[in-house]
Amino acid sequence: MSMNVLLPQPIEVEAIQRLEQAGHTIISAPDPKPETVLPLMKEVHAVILRTGITMTRQLIEAADDLKVISRTGGGFDNVDVKAATDNNVIVTSNLSVNSISVREHVLAMMLSLVKQLPVLDQAVRSANYSIRYQNLSRDINGKTLGLLGFGRIGYQVATACKTVFNMSVLACDPYLSDEIKAKYSDLVSFVDKKQLCTDSDVLSVHVPLTEQTRHSLSTAEFDLMKPEAIVINTSRGPVIDEEALIAALQNKEIGGAGLDVLTNEPPDPDNQLLKLSNVIHTPHSAALTNECVIRMATDAADRTIEVLSGKKPLNVANPAVLESERWQHLS
Ligand code: NAD
Repeated sequence: MSMNVLLPQPIEVEAIQRLEQAGHTIISAPDPKPETVLPLMKEVHAVILRTGITMTRQLIEAADDLKVISRTGGGFDNVDVKAATDNNVIVTSNLSVNSISVREHVLAMMLSLVKQLPVLDQAVRSANYSIRYQNLSRDINGKTLGLLGFGRIGYQVATACKTVFNMSVLACDPYLSDEIKAKYSDLVSFVDKKQLCTDSDVLSVHVPLTEQTRHSLSTAEFDLMKPEAIVINTSRGPVIDEEALIAALQNKEIGGAGLDVLTNEPPDPDNQLLKLSNVIHTPHSAALTNECVIRMATDAADRTIEVLSGKKPLNVANPAVLESERWQHLS
């Protein structure tokens, strides 16, 4: 049966083709503003959601027969999961689909900061070739990588850094069982956050944003770090206390930061982080490679088609809905 699939933001043509081949009708919002999307919700059976809009209770409850919200990629922090569950709407995402691309982004940021590429590039363009004698860059080989969060992306970053750069890898992840930690003991030493901050040359953040992880790195943590330590954040901006990070960078308590995410996106033009030369910014684009956007969109389309054709999708964020009468038929 043909169903209406709402796209609050455009998705890749490969994914649209899959939905249309499955017989569904695409409704494309002209923009992802809530006031634009709200009047479209009534007739919608599925929403394929990127990060440009939050699926609030108001939007979810505006639909007469919404069945599924399918995130392109990982994370569902822009979905009111409680409201979805209250209305028996399945929320699905796929955390694994972008891990490889985020790993490459972390490595690019790490090498770029350690090798001081933006500074050297700017110097050459400004006829300051003699900067080469300042020996600004460092080697990464044999240094210590610290991971706050050892999930899918943390694991990917660990394997690359260990294999390619012979780095020692530390990880802090209090939610992993002893059994899982033992399984990865050849790759990683599990430590507490204090030791992670004290010992890491590069500290990369890979936790989800939750009330527990908000401001996980703040003044107390930056105070522990080595003056040349590099902090990389590709998770979510508010996991780092931005004011504390600015102070640590300005006071040279740490060596630099690679930030794919910020507390406010896009940032206020007056944000001090934009003015610091020891910071590299990217616009929340770690997963937005040519290849990965197609993977994320087609995967989200597949999970939508699964639900609409009576199959249980992989990765249901609110499994409680599957027990409701509405979804008991799912195979
Ligand atoms: P994941 O769920 O596989 O791993 C997250 C890990 O964090 C888990 O092992 C969990 O136990 C751990 N964790 C949770 N709370 C913690 C805490 N307080 N301290 C230490 N560890 C804690 O997720 P992932 O696929 O590795 O992705 C990590 C995050 O990266 C996502 O939640 C998402 O916010 C972000 N992300 C960003 C991009 C991007 O484009 N920048 C792309 C994908 C994912």
